[in-house]
Amino acid sequence: MAGAGKERVLSGMRPSGKVHLGNYLGALANWVKLQDELDCYYFVADWHALTDDLDTSDVPGNAVEMVADWLGAGLDPERATLFIQSLVPEHAELHLLFSMTTPVTWLERVPTYRERIEEQHLESPSYGLLGYPLLQSADILMYKPRWVPVGIDQAPHVELTREVARRFNNAFGPVFPEPEVKLTEIPKVPGTDGRKMSKSFDNAIYLSDPPEVVTAKVRPMVTDPARRRRSDPGNPDVCPVFDLHKIFSPAADREWAATGCRTAGIGCLDCKGRLLEHMLPRLAPIRERRQQAAEKPKEIVEILREGSRRAREVAKRTMDDVRRVAPIEP
Ligand code: SF4
Repeated sequence: MAGAGKERVLSGMRPSGKVHLGNYLGALANWVKLQDELDCYYFVADWHALTDDLDTSDVPGNAVEMVADWLGAGLDPERATLFIQSLVPEHAELHLLFSMTTPVTWLERVPTYRERIEEQHLESPSYGLLGYPLLQSADILMYKPRWVPVGIDQAPHVELTREVARRFNNAFGPVFPEPEVKLTEIPKVPGTDGRKMSKSFDNAIYLSDPPEVVTAKVRPMVTDPARRRRSDPGNPDVCPVFDLHKIFSPAADREWAATGCRTAGIGCLDCKGRLLEHMLPRLAPIRERRQQAAEKPKEIVEILREGSRRAREVAKRTMDDVRRVAPIEP
């Protein structure tokens, strides 16, 4: 039985399709590590995707592609429970109850809510957008996890979850333990244009990219902008290619790149070539496993249905506890 007797951990990802290196190094690689130590619940956050776009036609296909990448990265459905948020409708029920106990001002002050309104010039944001962190709290607290693995920028969301739990427990009775943040060190993963790697910037390297595509993306990558000619010394500290060296290359080759850059002893193409020598073998087994998984989408759906069934057993037990302290039915 997956995770029996271990402390529980929960995390989710929106089904935005194929997983890129930023998602992998920022979350997924850590999820894979944790599945040996903890009782892990990882979910496809398909309801959360509706805050981006009300057209749901791509959601099922994107979920399958994303989970193919999860499996490629090494998640094992025998060791971790992989499920779909909307197949566990108890999340929506708990969200509703939390909406009764949580002050609106707590949600209005969440920075990501304000950022979304400003960035997208939203004049009439939906309740779903405002309630997003509350649904996230319900996702988390449903499984009463000891830990929530997040990067430092997500830590305030877990703090909100702790406040939501406290408020509910005070109003009705002690049901929810307050989960703790498990801080994940997230490496800086630049996209090919030097900005943060993101699907929306069209600068991403995907786990599914074959080696020739990775090579074609890395070769023209942005470098230290001050290094215009081969004879100009460069500064690896401001170069996105060197950020990738820090992730993929061993110390000796990082040193080779840094010194060669500063002394103009190497050209940027030499530097990128050495990076690819380390990157491609690391990515090859992940891509091969994800391709094998993607060829059997029905098996992926079956894994998610089975995981959702397991997750629902836990969710039903939690909702029994909730109904005990907050009875409504006659
Ligand atoms: S030599 Fe390497 S680290 Fe230096 S600017 Fe070129 S790509 Fe960047």
